[in-house]
Amino acid sequence: MPSGIYIRTKEILNKLRKIHGGNKYHLGYHHSEESKRKMGLANIGKSHSMSKEGKKRLSLLHRGKPLSQEHRKKLSEAHIGKQCNENNPLWKGEKATRAPKHVWVYRHKGKPQTCVNCGATCKERKLNWANVNHKYHRNLDDYISLCIFCHRQYDINNNGYKNIKPKII
Ligand SMILES: [Zn+2]
Repeated sequence: MPSGIYIRTKEILNKLRKIHGGNKYHLGYHHSEESKRKMGLANIGKSHSMSKEGKKRLSLLHRGKPLSQEHRKKLSEAHIGKQCNENNPLWKGEKATRAPKHVWVYRHKGKPQTCVNCGATCKERKLNWANVNHKYHRNLDDYISLCIFCHRQYDINNNGYKNIKPKII
């Protein structure tokens, strides 16, 4: 039985007292080893999983209550590596727009180091991961590192982008 979720009003406490015949020595009563054994035998094979209704009631009781630090830590440890990419409920796969796909490329390939076209390094110019076929599929081989100048030229030549001067950083 989970503890801490049952609200003991005065009325309930009075009822409990009546059940125990007002015997205060009965409070904190522990089952004997013999009765524990019997209870264990009686429960063999019985399912202890909670009903859907019970789960709903519990979730309503806990709604809006802040989690303790310890609980948060346990939850985060339990979820490590379980919500990556496809397992994330917000994962849109191929339907994702270009920006999150670029973030995904950066996460897997890291920062681009040199432009594959002109050889500029990340210290000289700003580098991007450019999509090769402009279809933006989730294929890491479809992305090449280009400096902003080569990237712009590449997009103009292959994707019909207008010639907009990039900001020099
Ligand atoms: Zn370049």
